[in-house]
Amino acid sequence: MANILMFHHFHDKNKHYKGQGSFNKKMFEKVIKKIGIKNIANSIHDIKKKNKFFFTFDDGLASQHDIALPILNKYKIKGIFFIHTNREYSRIEIFRYFRHKYFKTINQFYDFFYKTLNEEKIFISKKNFKEIEILKIKQSKLYKYHTQEDLKFRIIRDNFLSHKQYEKILFKMMKIKKFNYKKSNVNFFMTDKNIKNIFENNHYIGIHSHSHSTDISSKSYYNQLKDYSKNKKILEKLINSKIFLASYPCGKYNSNSLKVMRKLNINYAFIDTINKKKFHKYKIPRINSASLI
Ligand SMILES: [Zn+2]
Repeated sequence: MANILMFHHFHDKNKHYKGQGSFNKKMFEKVIKKIGIKNIANSIHDIKKKNKFFFTFDDGLASQHDIALPILNKYKIKGIFFIHTNREYSRIEIFRYFRHKYFKTINQFYDFFYKTLNEEKIFISKKNFKEIEILKIKQSKLYKYHTQEDLKFRIIRDNFLSHKQYEKILFKMMKIKKFNYKKSNVNFFMTDKNIKNIFENNHYIGIHSHSHSTDISSKSYYNQLKDYSKNKKILEKLINSKIFLASYPCGKYNSNSLKVMRKLNINYAFIDTINKKKFHKYKIPRINSASLI
């Protein structure tokens, strides 16, 4: 199986801020040169070729269009862009920006997060802490580039809080810090024109669900189908072409998600972790670019 790299954020000196795990032009070019142009695949048909590399980009971020795209074009590399379609309502980027803008270090953000959890009377019990420790050991094998603090935060967010609770906490934190995201006026996401431009420059566009719900695999088969097919319809209409590639938001999938992929005639779907299991066309592992920094 080929090696598939997964990228998210890029930064420059003015428009796109430097955040946790983000790449600038120079860093990105360095990765390309280290791999070697001849080892980079230029067709999805090379997916099973052992020594080939693919570059994938999740979430339809404007920084990918502005910073990564010109470099891909320069080296004639075919990128794969997974795009969700309710981007203007996506809170993940707002929360990330808030974290970057209002906290000197990521651990200061985590401390404030736990303090707010306490104030909201959401207690993590001793038993929970034991479970967190067990999950931390398990996940540190999958997410080697995350610190112990990152893992703890992610486990509490994904395993101990509901999506609603998590957002409530974040909105409360933003209120306390007087961060009005509606007025912040930062454009995190690609415009329709950007997406068309990517496609016209010969890159692949893939689906990534409409909602980008962080717990999409907890939805029923029917609701997952609705979510992914809405995404597919909007993107196919925009680029006027059929889409046959997918990635799961936050890497979350279950047997229903696999059924959805089949139903939507997807050829390959990508997860967000590495594994050494046998090739499965709907569970293609990816290497997080954070591990390359
Ligand atoms: Zn995503």
